[in-house]
Amino acid sequence: MPTDTLPNPEKSPERSSGELIRFEQVTKRFGENTVLDHLDFSVDAGKHVTLIGPSGSGKTTILRLLMTLLKPDEGTITVDGKKLFPASEKERREARKQIGMVFQQFNLFPNMSVLRNITEAPVTVLGMSKDEAVERAKGLLDMVGLADKCDARPSQLSGGQQQRVAIARALAMRPKVLLLDEVTSALDPELVAGVLDLLRDIARTTDITMLCVTHEMNFARDISDQVLMFDAGRVIETGPPEQIFNEPENDRTREFLSAIL
Ligand code: ADP
Repeated sequence: MPTDTLPNPEKSPERSSGELIRFEQVTKRFGENTVLDHLDFSVDAGKHVTLIGPSGSGKTTILRLLMTLLKPDEGTITVDGKKLFPASEKERREARKQIGMVFQQFNLFPNMSVLRNITEAPVTVLGMSKDEAVERAKGLLDMVGLADKCDARPSQLSGGQQQRVAIARALAMRPKVLLLDEVTSALDPELVAGVLDLLRDIARTTDITMLCVTHEMNFARDISDQVLMFDAGRVIETGPPEQIFNEPENDRTREFLSAIL
């Protein structure tokens, strides 16, 4: 894997410690439905954290808040010491630059080439020169095994290939945090392992912080430093994967895991 294209090629000690994400007393409601209920949690820089829990427990809402696709009703969210909520538009834009997301449905721009999908945001949002953006995009495509697909349109690629492009696109912004929202659940079963292996590689070789919602429990066990178990908008149990998966303490965690494992 060519390290010069990775967001944080060296695992630097100062980046591997300290808090990067903090939710304090965050509440999110949709009408009468309180989806997150005075939620507190934090994630340290360089850590890989997996959110598990039943459907509807608020996991995706957390990622969408971090992407500023939603606003909380109450509480504060900070990223790398920068205010995301409450914050001015300018502060929010700055904080938001630290975060990249890969979605379940890839969400590539259908009318742009693969290369342009990756260069667009670095040029328009970060003000990177086009030459540099293209060079970096090619390096990232090489890393995800798609160096020969620069000129293809997303529709000409398999789901697994599209998801690799989406991962490259997120990394092109050099985010400190990568959010992964059930990134393999829309893929044909035979394409899942390749995408998970790529993410394992990224987790192992970079110091990027990952926040991951997944039903792939083996993957969660492999890459996670910490697992957060959600139920009804609250963290009901947290710990390292071996503890949560092997010796869960909470009845709801046990119930949830026995239903899916
Ligand atoms: P999870 O990712 O754990 O499955 P979500 O965060 O997607 O849960 O959803 C939590 C709850 O919020 C669900 O009850 C869902 O129906 C509701 N919800 C999510 N997004 C919206 C929305 N845009 N409008 C109304 N309700 C929503």
